[in-house]
Amino acid sequence: MDTAAPTTNVTMDEITALAKRRGFIFQSSEIYGGIGGFFDYGPLGAILKRNVKDAWWHEIVELRDDVVAFDAAIVMHPDTWVASGHVAAFHDKLVDCRHCKHRFRADHLKNLEKCPDCGMMGSLTEPRNFNLMLKTSVGPMEDSAALAYLRPETAQGIFVNFKNIYQSARKKPPFGIAQIGKSFRNEITPGNFTYRMREFEQAELEYFVPHDGKDMEVYQSWVEARKKWYSDYGIKPDRLRFYELKPEERPHYALAGTDVEYLFPWGWGELESIAHRGTYDLDAHIKLSGKDLTFFDEATKQKYVPILIESSAGVDRTTLTMLVDAFDKEKVVDENGKESLRTVLRFHPKIAPVQVGIFPLARNKPELVEKAQLIERGLRPHFRTQYDEGNVGQLYRRQDEIGTPFCLMVDYQTIADQTITVRHRDSMKQDRIAVAQLAAYLAERLTY
Ligand code: ATP
Repeated sequence: MDTAAPTTNVTMDEITALAKRRGFIFQSSEIYGGIGGFFDYGPLGAILKRNVKDAWWHEIVELRDDVVAFDAAIVMHPDTWVASGHVAAFHDKLVDCRHCKHRFRADHLKNLEKCPDCGMMGSLTEPRNFNLMLKTSVGPMEDSAALAYLRPETAQGIFVNFKNIYQSARKKPPFGIAQIGKSFRNEITPGNFTYRMREFEQAELEYFVPHDGKDMEVYQSWVEARKKWYSDYGIKPDRLRFYELKPEERPHYALAGTDVEYLFPWGWGELESIAHRGTYDLDAHIKLSGKDLTFFDEATKQKYVPILIESSAGVDRTTLTMLVDAFDKEKVVDENGKESLRTVLRFHPKIAPVQVGIFPLARNKPELVEKAQLIERGLRPHFRTQYDEGNVGQLYRRQDEIGTPFCLMVDYQTIADQTITVRHRDSMKQDRIAVAQLAAYLAERLTY
């Protein structure tokens, strides 16, 4: 990560204000003052996040016959985290200021002489290790025997089930296992809105390959597949980069690694990491559990530990990226020559929480209201629709702010000749089309 000058014209204050105003994301437990690193998704945010997950799932699982679905428990046997290395090494270095009591990650401080918040010299403690796993206890006794962890990543559930999965799904490497689920990390300094949280969601793919010399090729093909995904969903190419890790930046067992990074208002931040992890993860569980997690190849009658290619993406960071990337402000001039700023979220139509807004020209004309509601009910089973009524300018402004790609306006001409106005969010241009053509017109632009 570095801090190249941001090219985006949006600030995080604008994003958090819009997210709250329009019901995308709220601070968790806000009425009690909030709790650091936890967030709630509002009515539109919940749909936006679900659309991000569906887009990932569709591409990674539904469109492929070599990837199977999985959903593990959040709490696993504590030995899982011993084998994975999280108990011994999932640490950040923590420093406290004895004077102002603020807490910092040592690697975020320029020097350890002086507190960056209160300015006091010599007030910082020595850096000490702080394990990022959130602890809980299982069962009625809260002693050390009951200690368990909330998983800090979803991947380990896949590794420990490797044999159950390949045997039951009758899969043979190369094949993958995909999972979306919650993870928890007791981050020392959560921040940048939903970028660094303590409870978040991951979308992980673990792809197992044989030792046939094609593992680097497979790794590269996943990097390309992920590039295509971000581009298909319209992320601006100049704000996205695929950073190939240098050998000294990778864990010792990884043979290759690429971080997918987005240029947020504060600089580049990681959305996903793609890695060639060798046989490290399965080897570790075989060693500690003493169980055989090798793959038995019926054709060659040989056992082997497959090589792993991993793609690990953050659902919340990707959702935040969709919001930041879609955000735009533009100057508009109305028919009287009056200038104003239009805020618009230019979501990809498949990601937009509402795809079609439908309104009557006037809320006090029953025939227009009935017609608009009838059209909305007809479209609802096929698209994410929203019926609304009120001042036309305000209706459009609201739909622009929540990123609705198409708005339909029912007027007297609709009643007379069965045509309707379609307003396009991005160009603000309007077309008039036959109501009978609507479903086909929208399907062409909105469905997978
Ligand atoms: P960072 O360096 O930012 O702490 P990481 O390298 O530890 O992230 P990974 O362990 O590679 O992250 O996790 C895979 C993905 O999970 C990340 O790319 C990110 O999208 C997501 N993720 C990790 N930690 C958090 C967090 N605290 N909040 C939100 N998403 C997270």
